[in-house]
Amino acid sequence: MINVQNYRKIKESLPFHVKLVAVSKTKPIEDILALYHEGQRLFGENKAQELIAKYEALPQDIKWHFIGHLQSNKIKYIAPFVSLIHSIDSLKLLQEVNKQAMKNDRIIPCLLQFHIALEETKFGFSIEECEAMLADPALQELKNIVLVGVMGMATFTDDEELIRGEFIRLKKYFDQLKSNHFLHNPDFKEISMGMTDDYAIAMEEGSTLIRIGSAIFGTRINS
Ligand SMILES: *Cc1c(COP(=O)(O)O)cnc(C)c1O
Repeated sequence: MINVQNYRKIKESLPFHVKLVAVSKTKPIEDILALYHEGQRLFGENKAQELIAKYEALPQDIKWHFIGHLQSNKIKYIAPFVSLIHSIDSLKLLQEVNKQAMKNDRIIPCLLQFHIALEETKFGFSIEECEAMLADPALQELKNIVLVGVMGMATFTDDEELIRGEFIRLKKYFDQLKSNHFLHNPDFKEISMGMTDDYAIAMEEGSTLIRIGSAIFGTRINS
């Protein structure tokens, strides 16, 4: 069940430089509308199909973030409206986003997703892979995307020091990329880290975008 009190509490606790992405995956339109009426405009989804259905059913001033693993063949469906893609982890994916953005006469903001957790299943760059991509001349040809920062998910664990260490690492990657590639580029400024169970730690370690689902919308049955 949606918990508006919790939403208000979280919102009030955020420093000015941290934005809240309300992660509405698997949750119904009515719950999203309830939060919309609280003033929330930033929502995150992790499946293209579901995102499109919700985009079509809900008010047009909602900003939709795509936070899940992105399949190349789905990009064309979200390119007309998505306001930030959190999950870029290859040049190939970025090239496809660029192509679809161009068709829609848009520039789509993207985050570079890093693999910082212990689990094998989580997607994302290593710092070496990412540096290699940023050095690739092919990247300079992409005029319809803009890289605005980094994203990562910590290990699913109760070990707070492990989680903190992973967030510190992501912040270090951000700083390294900023100084190597984006020093005079004010667009590159976002660090998307922190979910329901670890957002407090993430904010202490420099998060600018927290992605919260279950603390606001209640626990999910699946995904
Ligand atoms: C589901 C999801 C979240 C939100 O998770 P909660 O623990 O419910 O807050 C955040 N980020 C990503 C990438 C997700 O898939």
